[in-house]
Amino acid sequence: MTRIIAVANQKGGVGKTTTAVNLAAALAEARRKVLLIDLDPQGNATMAAGIDKRTVRLTGCEVLLEEATIEQAIQPTEAGFDLLPGSGDLTAAELKLMDSLARESRLKDQLAKLGERYDTILIDCPPTLHLLTVNALTAAHGVLIPVQCEYFALEGLSSLLDTIKAVRARLNPSLEIEGLLRTMYDMRNNLGNEVSLQLTKHFGDKVFRSIIPRNVRLAEAPSHGKPITLYDRESRGAAAYIGLAGEMLRRDGGPEPVAAAN
Ligand code: ATP
Ligand code: MG
Repeated sequence: MTRIIAVANQKGGVGKTTTAVNLAAALAEARRKVLLIDLDPQGNATMAAGIDKRTVRLTGCEVLLEEATIEQAIQPTEAGFDLLPGSGDLTAAELKLMDSLARESRLKDQLAKLGERYDTILIDCPPTLHLLTVNALTAAHGVLIPVQCEYFALEGLSSLLDTIKAVRARLNPSLEIEGLLRTMYDMRNNLGNEVSLQLTKHFGDKVFRSIIPRNVRLAEAPSHGKPITLYDRESRGAAAYIGLAGEMLRRDGGPEPVAAAN
């Protein structure tokens, strides 16, 4: 079955796009059929996947407004996953959708047309909780929440959790929290360790064991239009996202083996 995962956090710059793109690449490397949807008008995931948002003809905008089919807009990428590109046009789509019928479920309806073509669909959300993100949460089975381990990280989470609750109540009762992912982690930073502890205290096993370290190669890769697996496979950043993909795949395959007592 296709698993649809929204990568969301309304806080800006926490690693949503970096996670969506590099997890897509790591899952594709593990032979999963992956579609990455760039639902952010900034178009950062599109650029990071090696597709120029300035020249792309069809994006999520036309798909949401039903001016093109989703098949027409999807493109293959060098890293082996497919991309539904995003650009500034998504802002216009969001505005136009405001007055439309079933405005929250446009993306869900379009994704249904893909049948079981993909194993995983990852949606990179913008740093807002408006209609584009609500469309992602309505279409998704799970929400992956990147959290930068710094002061105020937990405070910001409550509005996201409220939105998830509201979407569950009205639009998508089976929406789950896929997991909270610690990003840009710096082990030498005491505050980071403290926030990380609080996260595990609050969210228990909803916190991924994999931790994404702060790694300059991850920050450099998008300007080369490459995910980290193609840009620098030996980097700690690549290892971390490959590890995260592995953790998710093991989870899908059932519970991880329980270590024998003693
Ligand atoms: P926005 O809310 O604007 O969409 P975002 O949540 O998608 O932001 P990213 O764009 O992924 O966040 O990351 C913000 C910045 O931090 C980018 O410049 C990115 O390259 C950098 N960055 C992300 N993760 C890491 C990391 N693990 N190590 C170093 N730099 C990182
Ligand atoms: Mg982003």
